[in-house]
Amino acid sequence: MLSWAPWWCVLCLGPHPTAKKRKSFLVFSGKSYEDDVSKMMSTREELLHILNDLERALQQERELFGEYLLSESSKEVHQHVTPTLTDSPVSPLSSTSMAYKKKELKAHVVKEEVDLFGNRVVYKKEGTTVQMLHPFPDEPWVGATSLDELNQMICTCTKCPLSHTRTNFVFGVGNPKAEVVVVGEAPGADEDLQGEPFVGRAGQLLNKILEAINFKREEVYICNILKCRPPNNRDPLPEEVDACEPHLWKQLELIKPKMILCLGRIAGQTLLRTTEPLGSLRGKMHDYRGIPLMVTYHPAALLRNPNWKRPTWEDVQKFRKLYDDLKSKQG
Ligand code: SF4
Repeated sequence: MLSWAPWWCVLCLGPHPTAKKRKSFLVFSGKSYEDDVSKMMSTREELLHILNDLERALQQERELFGEYLLSESSKEVHQHVTPTLTDSPVSPLSSTSMAYKKKELKAHVVKEEVDLFGNRVVYKKEGTTVQMLHPFPDEPWVGATSLDELNQMICTCTKCPLSHTRTNFVFGVGNPKAEVVVVGEAPGADEDLQGEPFVGRAGQLLNKILEAINFKREEVYICNILKCRPPNNRDPLPEEVDACEPHLWKQLELIKPKMILCLGRIAGQTLLRTTEPLGSLRGKMHDYRGIPLMVTYHPAALLRNPNWKRPTWEDVQKFRKLYDDLKSKQG
């Protein structure tokens, strides 16, 4: 008979001699297996520690060097290509083009461009007419004229399954006329509970990083690519990014920032439409439809690996310098 006997022996129905030392023990047919169980438990805990360390190390490697897959059949290592970034259905020239194709005038198109916020600019043969067509989904919120209005229009969004698991929709926070927009990946547990981006430990670290380069949290605008939390903080799925990214485009269109700071690999790769690893994205300026954009480590990654604080510090100092240069040029 197997019994669970906290503090008591099933044979004598009294306190077990070793019960003072331990809170519980197992008794099987009158024989105590307490020591065996303790050994098993400590081995299990050690294994869990090793697995946690391994997971953390892999996560850090992935942040820095990108995703790699080991092919089971060939045992060759291939660079993992995230379909979202190359085949995104919200890419202005992919699936959304289906929507604007319907709206296109029949005039012969001689040139097409994508402007600052993803609007497709079509130059027609007549030369003087420029037709601008929205890459946004054909949804009412596209017509929002302020961040508040946009928030109200999309806060009940159910375009992807994350709407079923979220506690709160996390729109964004900060100055609606901010010159700097900080873009992260998705809300975490604290953000999901409070409905505000970057409020947990990572948020506090972000505040310190901003303060270190003379920006106040309320002076900039902070948001994420996804507005709802992926369960267990997993990476956003391509279809979730496809569904949610147009909301970010609209936010940027309304704010019209001078510069964008992307936090983490996913935010950088998504906005820049690239699969390059964070290690090669950070430390330099990119162009996001005419807006200077820099990618650096996500504060949550800095909490896991403090060695990345130094390169982050260098990135944000560079970011601040470019911001000051831009401001001085504009008088
Ligand atoms: S993550 Fe974005 S697309 Fe998905 S439900 Fe939330 S707001 Fe809608």
